[in-house]
Amino acid sequence: MDSIKRKTLLYKTRVEYGDYTINHAQGCSHGCLYPCYAMMMAKRFGKVKDYNEWIKPKIVSNALELLKKEIPRHKDKIKFVHLCFSTDPFMCGHDEIADLSLKIIKMLNEENIKCTTLTKGVPPLELAELSRQNEIGISLISLNEGFKKKIEPYSTPYKDRINALYELHKKGCYTWVSIEPYPTPNIITQNFDDILKAVEFADKLIFGRLNYNERVTRYSERQKYYNELSHKVIEFCKKRGKNFHIKEKTSTL
Ligand code: SF4
Repeated sequence: MDSIKRKTLLYKTRVEYGDYTINHAQGCSHGCLYPCYAMMMAKRFGKVKDYNEWIKPKIVSNALELLKKEIPRHKDKIKFVHLCFSTDPFMCGHDEIADLSLKIIKMLNEENIKCTTLTKGVPPLELAELSRQNEIGISLISLNEGFKKKIEPYSTPYKDRINALYELHKKGCYTWVSIEPYPTPNIITQNFDDILKAVEFADKLIFGRLNYNERVTRYSERQKYYNELSHKVIEFCKKRGKNFHIKEKTSTL
């Protein structure tokens, strides 16, 4: 795979529920079509020219070198490091990226820094051998694999993501599920309760609306819809003693 060099790696993000973050690849093979906010930004800032370039990710070849230098500089301020906000740490078809993600997490854990991960790929079992402070997440907005092929065309099937997360849960890892960006019924009709049930084992759920999508704006009942689903997530988690977070601008309740 192609590579790039960066001048810096570890930085504080202003993204909601974020602290420090690392994006050790440019682009993402999953090619989500919600659209992907990270791709929109990469295009706007001239880092990639189009979708075809975005789905051919480039690995940051000097990531470990940079991290070694940057950890001491930021260590006292870091609560946790998230992998990743603008790429995917365990993207399909790129074992080099997954290997680098594991090395990065290991290096941070050795400094007693907690990591959170989020993927639309398969979170590897090796994560269970790293710090138990870490929080391992998958994205899940449906159980319909046909819909997945349309909207997240090159990502891992939902059932494989759920199974991999469940295996990590069974090994005692803290697991979470990001139900975001959740589509409105004019995009897909589906049973939200089934999705919650499929990830009932997870320790935390995050729920958020779909943004930057013209079809959502055409759904006039969208706020009512997102309010109802937010309420469901809160009740589901409270009843089971789980943590939860409803993303900004999702619910007006
Ligand atoms: S997995 Fe995330 S970063 Fe990758 S294309 Fe999808 S939304 Fe973008």
